[in-house]
Amino acid sequence: MFLNFETVETQSLADQIIKENEIERYLEKGRDFINDEEIWEKLNKHVEPDPVRVREILAKSLAIETLEPDELAVLINVKDPELWEEMFATAREIKKKVYDNRIVTFAPLYCGNLCINNCLYCGFRRENKVIKRRVLTIEEVKREAEVLAGEIGHKRLIVVYGEHPATGAEYIRDTIEAIYSVKVKTRRGYGQIRRVNVNAAPMSIDELKMLKEVGIGTYQVFQETYHHETYAQIHPKGTVKHHYQWRLYCHHRALEAGVDDVGLGVLFGLYDWRFELMGLLYHARDLEKKFGIGPHTISFPRLEPAANTPFVQETKYKVSDEDFKKVICLIRLAVPYTGMILTAREPAHIRREILGLGIVTQTDASTKIGIGAYSDRYTEQELERQQFQIGDPRSLEEVIRELAEMGYITSFCTAGYRCGRTGERIMDLLVKGKERIFCKLNAVLTFKEWLDDFASEETKEVAQKVIEKEMEELKGMVPEGVYQKLLEYYQRIENGERDLYF
Ligand code: SF4
Repeated sequence: MFLNFETVETQSLADQIIKENEIERYLEKGRDFINDEEIWEKLNKHVEPDPVRVREILAKSLAIETLEPDELAVLINVKDPELWEEMFATAREIKKKVYDNRIVTFAPLYCGNLCINNCLYCGFRRENKVIKRRVLTIEEVKREAEVLAGEIGHKRLIVVYGEHPATGAEYIRDTIEAIYSVKVKTRRGYGQIRRVNVNAAPMSIDELKMLKEVGIGTYQVFQETYHHETYAQIHPKGTVKHHYQWRLYCHHRALEAGVDDVGLGVLFGLYDWRFELMGLLYHARDLEKKFGIGPHTISFPRLEPAANTPFVQETKYKVSDEDFKKVICLIRLAVPYTGMILTAREPAHIRREILGLGIVTQTDASTKIGIGAYSDRYTEQELERQQFQIGDPRSLEEVIRELAEMGYITSFCTAGYRCGRTGERIMDLLVKGKERIFCKLNAVLTFKEWLDDFASEETKEVAQKVIEKEMEELKGMVPEGVYQKLLEYYQRIENGERDLYF
């Protein structure tokens, strides 16, 4: 009954959805943890950073300790290109120490584009009349999952929903269940989605408990901008999303509801990137302080063109490619344990450059963001069906081959979540540099699965060299018994068994 989005009364919905008591319990002296004046004060205080101080801070990052806001402000203010080189090198070293040589791949799956909000920068905003609105049925969701798991070979998805009663928590629960139920025969084994991460609107604790029960992966919500005034301007009054704090504390609610992993993000281009970085750090620190668990991932999308959305061209805060690289480096240094997601919003040449920096951990590929686009098999981007325009539509195979040529191993690993390496436990393993060994073992096994099931001979050839190098390194890293087990699993995968992991 909610399919006609224009008939939904947003103000009354906001009153029903937002639970003030689920916000108030986290406020300190009635305030949230983003103090705009304090952030600007810190950024302005450290304009001439001392290189000795910078190096002390880098040593702290390298010890996998979350930085203090003042320390990040110092790094943000560095201007010396040589010092920046050191910062990039440290960021690379941290990534290697925490996550080793692997890049995890996934695909987004948009289930609906109805939305009761009116965010000025978004193609899906309710007043945008040019968008063709649609919500996938459960059968259609399964068909999308069949293509993704059975033909492309993905094992992880991020499932995306606008904010609308038609795609509320119950629909999300049903779609997650439907996706997990899909199992498709492949060349040598079978394909299945093993981890469903969710990008959806802020929810109540009860709703999040329901999603926890069906096996939600990471619950990802981007604050978009941490700057209170900008936030209020671009998320108009009378919409649910106008409520800054309902959004700001949704990860707190998720952790309280028992969801293991949460993902933060900023939409770069809405406000000054230096402020946004500080906002991300304050957010990570508040989660650490209240729950002992920081963000599982941080995303850093940049604004992209969307149908009939002039705001994107008009913003004065666009982040240049040079600054974008700094942003990525600074996130790694500020929150060294976190997973970092680079998406196909970025054009191929930027993705290549960023992945080559060796700092990020995850990227999507074969990405289609039109509703129903995977099973409809349309190849052109159609802005009327999409939230924004993507920059890199290359296939998973092309991306994997390129990564292999650069020396990276693509991982489809989802083992950690199913062995209880989540939340506080995984934080501990990441910080101590132990998770990287599991990453490496499981990257080899899942990469082997993918190559056997989906790769062309040409890709296999490049990839095999990477697998051999990784296995050689593992020989010196793990006890003999574990290495023998790896060899045994490897052989069993070659024989068609699937989903063997450490
Ligand atoms: S950004 Fe999200 S909430 Fe805002 S209009 Fe777009 S889909 Fe809706």
